[in-house]
Amino acid sequence: MLFSDYHTHPQGHRVQPYTRALLQPWVDSARQRGLSEIAFTDHDRYRNGIDFEEIDRLREANPDIKIRAGIELDNDPVHSTGGRKWVEEHWDQLDFVLGSVHFLDRPNEMFDSVPAGAEQFAGRDIDRLYENYFGRVREMAASGLVDCLAHIDLIKIHGHRPDADIRILAAETLAFIKSKGLAIELSTAGWRKPVNELYPSDPIIGLAIARGIPFTTASDAHSHVQLGENYERLAEKMRAAAIKEICTFERHEQQSRLL
Ligand SMILES: [Zn+2]
Ligand SMILES: [Zn+2]
Repeated sequence: MLFSDYHTHPQGHRVQPYTRALLQPWVDSARQRGLSEIAFTDHDRYRNGIDFEEIDRLREANPDIKIRAGIELDNDPVHSTGGRKWVEEHWDQLDFVLGSVHFLDRPNEMFDSVPAGAEQFAGRDIDRLYENYFGRVREMAASGLVDCLAHIDLIKIHGHRPDADIRILAAETLAFIKSKGLAIELSTAGWRKPVNELYPSDPIIGLAIARGIPFTTASDAHSHVQLGENYERLAEKMRAAAIKEICTFERHEQQSRLL
């Protein structure tokens, strides 16, 4: 039974200050779905909505659910300079920081918006784009400001596949993540995108297992109704891959729990 969702967006895609009215439905939804642990990981550009005191009050009111304070730190060339500074300043109040690459060479446009982002792949050398993307993931892993890398093969979102073996394209990045002691997430969000595949793909999961990289479980929910989405399917996949441990974080301290 999967018990945790470590990638959620209570604010969705705009600043909505944390209040009980905003957050309680997420906790209720977690409880209904049999989850005992959730992390709030709004995008860093909405950091002004995050309120640690409100999270504390939510914890007091819901002692049966572990509620982790987190953020998704993007490689947003416009907003994430401030985001990195904010993470540094609030490091001790945060349990968990996700690192994400959503931008390639266009500073104002995420490549993973659907369908508009697909345009950034038109006429491009896909293998080169994959190399470029994984280089950015390594930069994020090197920042010293993240605990876990989100949707590590997001570059496949629109269905573009490299000619080269993905294991070769991803190998250096996974080795680097291991050397930094970071985790990666298993994200069901890929199943609701054009690629229709878990993040990451089976070959990358295999490499991560071989290297002993820990996994979090995640839905990347942008609404509380998406919490734990497709977790039965994910559990099946994890059984098939013989993944028996899930990793959680408290004040950035990584813990493993047997399933
Ligand atoms: Zn993301
Ligand atoms: Zn996200």
